[in-house]
Amino acid sequence: MFYDIHAHLTSNEFKKDINEIIKECEKNNVIVILNGLNVEDNEEVLKISKSSPNIFASIGMHPSYEYDRNFEKQAIQNKDDIVAIGEVGLDFKYSNKEEQISNFKRIILLAEKINKPLIIHSRKAQEEVLKLISNAGVSAVLHAFLATNKLIREAAELPNTYLSIPSNVVYSEQSRNIAILAPMSRLLCETDSPYMNKNERNTPLNVINAYKAITAIKKISMKEAESAISLNVKKVFKNIEIIKK
Ligand SMILES: [Zn+2]
Repeated sequence: MFYDIHAHLTSNEFKKDINEIIKECEKNNVIVILNGLNVEDNEEVLKISKSSPNIFASIGMHPSYEYDRNFEKQAIQNKDDIVAIGEVGLDFKYSNKEEQISNFKRIILLAEKINKPLIIHSRKAQEEVLKLISNAGVSAVLHAFLATNKLIREAAELPNTYLSIPSNVVYSEQSRNIAILAPMSRLLCETDSPYMNKNERNTPLNVINAYKAITAIKKISMKEAESAISLNVKKVFKNIEIIKK
């Protein structure tokens, strides 16, 4: 079983063939956690997650969108149908830093309230993200944490913090670094489909490439990688095994 914990199948990129892609995931034992970006996208994510046993929902409020407090109500109302809160986080490519920090604090409180892990985007804000999650009462998954080696090590040492290896690890030195520096017990895998792949069309099926890269880096078999990552998935996304029942 392969887990892609961060994908955006609601993107226009998949409008034409999303059903085929989901069927391929089912055929290849790929489990996907869709990450919503705003209230509207979250509705789509929730809907698609109900269409297949392999698709799960995480709903979020991406820092590149204007913060919408309705998201909080939406998360509480759908708490039994989601496995995480995300994509959320900080993106200091945009200048409203203070506003983003205060929104992210609200989101951490919300995640604690409904007891869901966070899936976190951190562009140009890795240090600030680590500061904010270091006291959080829920698990944190750092998606594509392209940071310095020092910060990657610091992240891996925080309790209940996981680093997700993007499938672009096949060519990205930065993604490789995460897999090298973090212990197996803190690794998850993702594709960020349709983004983050310069070589080919990115779909959740590419998550298998991230697993392959991990077997080479950690010198373990595919079976060992699969079972270690499945264990991490179940630790972080606590309701993933019961949500479809
Ligand atoms: Zn994303």
